[in-house]
Amino acid sequence: MAAPATHPNLPLIDLHRHLEGSMRLETVLDLGRKHNLPLPAWDVEGLRPHVQVTEPQPGVMAFLEKIKWLVTILVDYDACRRIAYENVEDLLREGIDYAELRFSPWFMAERHGLDPSAVVEAVVDGVEAGVRDFGVPVQIIGILSRTYGAEVGYKELAALLALKDHLVGVDLAGDEANFPARLFTSHFKQARDAGMHVTVHAGESDGPGSIRQAVELLGAERIGHAVHLFEDPSVVDLLLERRIGIEANLTSNVQTSSVVSFAAHPLRAMLDASLLATINTDDPGISAITLKHEYEIAAPAAGLTPRQIVQAQANALETAFLHPLDKQTLLAAKQD
Ligand SMILES: [Zn+2]
Repeated sequence: MAAPATHPNLPLIDLHRHLEGSMRLETVLDLGRKHNLPLPAWDVEGLRPHVQVTEPQPGVMAFLEKIKWLVTILVDYDACRRIAYENVEDLLREGIDYAELRFSPWFMAERHGLDPSAVVEAVVDGVEAGVRDFGVPVQIIGILSRTYGAEVGYKELAALLALKDHLVGVDLAGDEANFPARLFTSHFKQARDAGMHVTVHAGESDGPGSIRQAVELLGAERIGHAVHLFEDPSVVDLLLERRIGIEANLTSNVQTSSVVSFAAHPLRAMLDASLLATINTDDPGISAITLKHEYEIAAPAAGLTPRQIVQAQANALETAFLHPLDKQTLLAAKQD
């Protein structure tokens, strides 16, 4: 029998996982019934093709259409709290030892006219209750959505900063091709001044210049995706020099057509180049995957050697937004 892809003495870590893309279909149905929502189907199998991706989509924005269906059920703060709480329970079920969950308060609030600040409170409350009940350490990253533009970005940032002591960092996500990082320079300066870590979705649907902007203008310590990295060797050097982490999402990148196949994914080349690349899920509920699937099925399909898969697992611990002592604790828990 083949050896397991993950190393038993290293923690299993998901650094790039969206709350809104990780809802249980049973919960979607339950809330749909409770609130009389116009769902396209009333059983799990009927709902699945509407909210999960079964074949590659023409691009990131088409992929995100699936999430729009899911946020229909976020009718109130209880619903936001519930999906946050269930996300932590799902981490336990997947055997994940530590995760950084991210969400966009504006995106979650928009559909039913909720107050983004109260959405942040509900998510923080749900995650913290989940951490208490299920014992999986989790930190939360707040997202600014490129797609809403710079003005809404300030409001979204304010909602996040109001609870900054409960968040570990900020991220920039959404329509990368049309809303470049330079529009959000002062948002991220404010976030950094408030002591928050920074990760940015970049080089997913735009070129390597977007990755450079994320690092140089926004102060990104990690980059989400970076699939277009190798189109500019100077950006590879930049990430190496600054020891920037890369949050790779293999199945997601195939499903959004950011890469044409697992074999064409640059993760292996990233690891060959000694970049601090990691393996993550992105939107496991939409992609119908688990983190173990990414390690055991997707990573070998992307040509990673067993040694590289373990290296990616180790890189996740190294680039996690954690104090070195907390990293030691996670590692020590896997040594017994
Ligand atoms: Zn993402």
